[in-house]
Amino acid sequence: MDQPGADVIELISRFHTEFAVRMTGFDSVGNPIPPPDSHVLDHLARAWDLTDVEGAGDRPAAGTVVCPIEELECELCGARARYESPLVIRGQRVRVELCLECMRERGDPVLGGSGSVYFMYFDEVSAAVRAVCDGICTRKGRASIWGGPTTAQADTGGGSSPTTPVGGRASDPPPLGAVTVAVRLRRLWLDEFGPAFDEHDHDLAEVWRDCAVRRLGPDLVVTGQISFGDGDPFADQFSQRLAARLTERTRGSVRALRYEHSERPLKTPQRSRTSNLDVFHPADLTVPIEKTANGISARLAGASNPAKVALSGLHLAAVSRHRIWFAAASAEVKATVGKTPGAAGELALAVKAVQRKDPLYDIFVDSEAASLPSATALVRKGH
Ligand SMILES: [Zn+2]
Repeated sequence: MDQPGADVIELISRFHTEFAVRMTGFDSVGNPIPPPDSHVLDHLARAWDLTDVEGAGDRPAAGTVVCPIEELECELCGARARYESPLVIRGQRVRVELCLECMRERGDPVLGGSGSVYFMYFDEVSAAVRAVCDGICTRKGRASIWGGPTTAQADTGGGSSPTTPVGGRASDPPPLGAVTVAVRLRRLWLDEFGPAFDEHDHDLAEVWRDCAVRRLGPDLVVTGQISFGDGDPFADQFSQRLAARLTERTRGSVRALRYEHSERPLKTPQRSRTSNLDVFHPADLTVPIEKTANGISARLAGASNPAKVALSGLHLAAVSRHRIWFAAASAEVKATVGKTPGAAGELALAVKAVQRKDPLYDIFVDSEAASLPSATALVRKGH
């Protein structure tokens, strides 16, 4: 059964769908039309929490464009993805990431609403939008959103950009992808930090499950309703050890814990406002990972053998209220899922069966995928 209030959430999300912006994605001769700066800014403000005004996020999102934090691949051919679009696979509507060519052939040419979404990579964002975002970050005393290893690589302008980190040794392991970091943060919070708070009778003992956790640049921001006044629950020595662990597990991408007090009860996130970079929200605990793993592997038992072989390389790494994350041990394992006929489609259908909505999920690369518990394997022996 749904929790009380679910009908209200449904109503709000329907309102946002019905009043959403819709624009044509191509001109009369078939050239793609990128969404305007106002839509890009609307997306960035929501994704990076750049709004100055409380409640500004309650306006319907433009929803025509997303700025991916890392390179995305077309799920049909492996080229650089340019859109997310609804496709009909085996009679069911699923959302897939497509390159320009595959989009022209098979995608929905309308952007926004329940149609397609344009991917504008960081290096393609206009100077005007960059200036507005930088202005807000400076006012808020925050690091620029364009920083970080992924953006630095995407910056093909030549020369060194002021946000490019310098001094990395050649022997350092490569930085982790943003989604990999987000999923590792979720597992750290649930599997290590939370139980450690309880064990050490930390300020957050017993209440850590009621806190929302998100990543803001190098900080892990924990938001809760408990007020510590002028005190900082992360000022103790124990928390310094957690910060060291944070740094180690994210290869230096995230290095500090920060607490934010919320006067109001935390809002349950709407499905349309979640992203594959989400770390944790208390509402996520309503979806047990074992149940999700069982549901998906049961659904995949009926897939073709080649599809099952390809999908056996994936592990269920994380589940939130609205999303699912699958870990592949290497880029090759991930690419195999895309290239094997039926594999990606079967996975989308399995997620759809579990979520009972248009599936929201992501496959990310983490070399540690194979060390996840065997209960999270998608294809079980004996099936
Ligand atoms: Zn393609």
